Amino acid sequence: MNLILMGLPGAGKGTQAEKIVEKYQIPHISTGDMFRSAIKEGTDLGKKAKEFMDQGELVPDEVTIGIVRERLSKDDCVKGFLLDGFPRTIAQADALENLLADMDRKLDYVLHVNVPKEQLIDRLTGRRICPTCGATYHVEYNPPKQEGLCDKDGASLIQREDDQPETVKKRLEVNIEQAQPLIDFYQDKGYLATIDGAQDINDVFENIDEKLKDLA
Ligand code: ADP
Ligand code: ADP
Repeated sequence: MNLILMGLPGAGKGTQAEKIVEKYQIPHISTGDMFRSAIKEGTDLGKKAKEFMDQGELVPDEVTIGIVRERLSKDDCVKGFLLDGFPRTIAQADALENLLADMDRKLDYVLHVNVPKEQLIDRLTGRRICPTCGATYHVEYNPPKQEGLCDKDGASLIQREDDQPETVKKRLEVNIEQAQPLIDFYQDKGYLATIDGAQDINDVFENIDEKLKDLA
C-alpha cells in the first residue's frame, strides 16, 4: 500500500495518518515530523531545516529528497508507506517517481484531503501536539480527555512554534501556491483521490477507508 496524503496545512493529514497507520500498519513518514525531531536532537539537518521552518518557508528540495530517499530504503517500508507532507514541489514529485521506479514500485493513491482555507487558520491556531508521541489534538474540535495532557502517554501538550497566527498565514500562502501544480501532476497520472476534509474526523476517515479497503 503505497500512499501519499496531500492537503494544506491543517487539513487533517496528521490526524488521518494516525488512523490509517493503526488500521493498516504501514509507517507514517512525515517530513515535517522528521525535521522537527532533527531540530530537537540538534543535528546538522535540524539546524539547516530550522532556518526555513521558522519563517514558514519550504526546506530546500535536495535536503528534503535526501531524507525521504533514506527513509524509504528502511525495512519497515517493504509492505508500503504513507507519505505526509511530501512531495510539496514538482521536483520532489519527480524525484519520488524515480525513487519508486528504482525500487520497482508505484503509488496506489494520492489522497487529497480538501478543506476550504477559511477553516484552516482556526484549525492550526487551536492545534496542540504531544511532544513525546506526536499525537495531534485541537483545543475545540478534538480535545484530549484531560485538558492539556496527551491521552496516550500523559505528556503535557505543546503548541508548535510555526502554529503562531503570523506564521500560519505565511505557510498557507506558500502552500496554496505550490499545491495546485502537484494536484494536477497526480490527476494526470491517475493517482488522485479527493476526500472531503471538512467533515467530522471519523467521517473523513470512513471516506479514506472506502478507497483503501480494496488494496489491503
Ligand atoms: P495537518 O497534518 O494536515 O497539518 P492536523 O491533522 O494536524 O493537520 O490537523 C490540524 C488541526 O485540526 C488539529 O488541531 C486537529 O486536531 C484538527 N482537525 C483535524 N481534522 C479535523 C476535522 N475533520 N474537523 C475539525 N478539526 C480537525
Ligand atoms: P504543515 O503541513 O502543518 O505545514 P509540516 O509538519 O508538514 O506542516 O511541515 C512543517 C514545515 O516543515 C514546513 O513549513 C516546511 O518548512 C518543512 N517541510 C515539511 N515537509 C517539507 C517538504 N516536503 N519540502 C520542504 N519543506 C518541508
